[in-house]
Amino acid sequence: MKKVILQKGKEKVLEVRHPWIYSGAIRAKDNDLQPGEAVNILDDSGNIRGCGFYFPSSLQIKILSFERSFNHEIWKEKIHRAIEYRKYFHLPSLHTNAFRCFFGEADGIPGLIADYYNEILVIHFHHEGLYNYKNEILNAFLSYKNIQIRAVWLESKEEKALIYSSEDEPVCPVEIMENNLNFLVDWKDGQKTGFFLDQRENRNKVMHLSKDKDVLNLFSYTGAFSIYALQGGAKSVVSVDSSLWATEQIKKNFLLNEFQEQEIVTMDVFDYLKEEKRTFDLVICDPPAFAKNLKSRHNALMAYKRLNTMAMEKVRTGGMLMTFSCSGVVSRDLFYHTIVSACLQSKSEWRILESLYPGPDHPINPNFPEGDYLKGLLLIRSN
Ligand code: SAH
Repeated sequence: MKKVILQKGKEKVLEVRHPWIYSGAIRAKDNDLQPGEAVNILDDSGNIRGCGFYFPSSLQIKILSFERSFNHEIWKEKIHRAIEYRKYFHLPSLHTNAFRCFFGEADGIPGLIADYYNEILVIHFHHEGLYNYKNEILNAFLSYKNIQIRAVWLESKEEKALIYSSEDEPVCPVEIMENNLNFLVDWKDGQKTGFFLDQRENRNKVMHLSKDKDVLNLFSYTGAFSIYALQGGAKSVVSVDSSLWATEQIKKNFLLNEFQEQEIVTMDVFDYLKEEKRTFDLVICDPPAFAKNLKSRHNALMAYKRLNTMAMEKVRTGGMLMTFSCSGVVSRDLFYHTIVSACLQSKSEWRILESLYPGPDHPINPNFPEGDYLKGLLLIRSN
């Protein structure tokens, strides 16, 4: 097993259990390490302190274990543990057959994402180190006995392919059920793994807020929030997204749930908000990540502020705004302050009602604040 050796005293960085180590903490490493190669991590006295993946960049190690040397039990242990605890949250259940069953650093394997869509497992590798262990990872999922897996689709730098199937041609898009509602998920060509499972609980909240309301769903993707609003008895729902493919799927999802078709707008949200004269009782605003790194954070905050000030103008007095950011580099605190400053800038008066999180299948690792990416606020316009 290849190794890296920490600078004297730098084993301290392991104590805070942040799963990334930067190059400054490393004194020596074996020759010919390949990007992503698994390595043991040794302290200056030669004791094994853990293991991880090596990268030839300033972020040099992504940690797999803080205690043990590399071993092949790790995959099964971590993957089974992750799926196991989700059972307490009825994931999956008779009402919900789509959920995230593995979430990277928070479940203990940096870069490994796995979403379950009605017996189809979609695995994404976010770095090249995982590909060497493709078979171990696949077997770890398949050997978990309490969920049925019909097919496994892998997306990585090296390969985009069906890596397991019990039938010739697994159906794509697949129909999933979430809280008894149905959605088509294109697990090959949709955005991310095909569906935004992280918003399940917040969509449920929208359902309970929608009775007899006029709802505006901004950045609607395939219309999931819109469908929940209709299920909750919304009077009308307008869905806005710039992707033609996404807005075409909304129609199919209306049909699938036997709802009457509602207004769908294929347009940039900023342009839409400039042009739209109507107001609504509930506005949902779930944009893509505006900041991907610290360098773009300032501009992103300005964009969140502008977007939310514009969205606030579309809310009637007594109406609500549910607004989100899914940028990892925008902390919960920064997002809160950005929304507060949008409130101050708006010509209306607001009260903050709730702080919003993703569901429990998207755990947050307190040692890894970067992973706390999805944050939201529910506000009411009081005047
Ligand atoms: N709320 C959705 C997920 C939103 S993902 C759900 O629950 O499923 C973000 C969406 O924003 C994507 O569908 C993307 O196509 C869309 N988008 C990105 N930039 C946009 C823009 N400037 N105007 C309109 N839509 C945009």
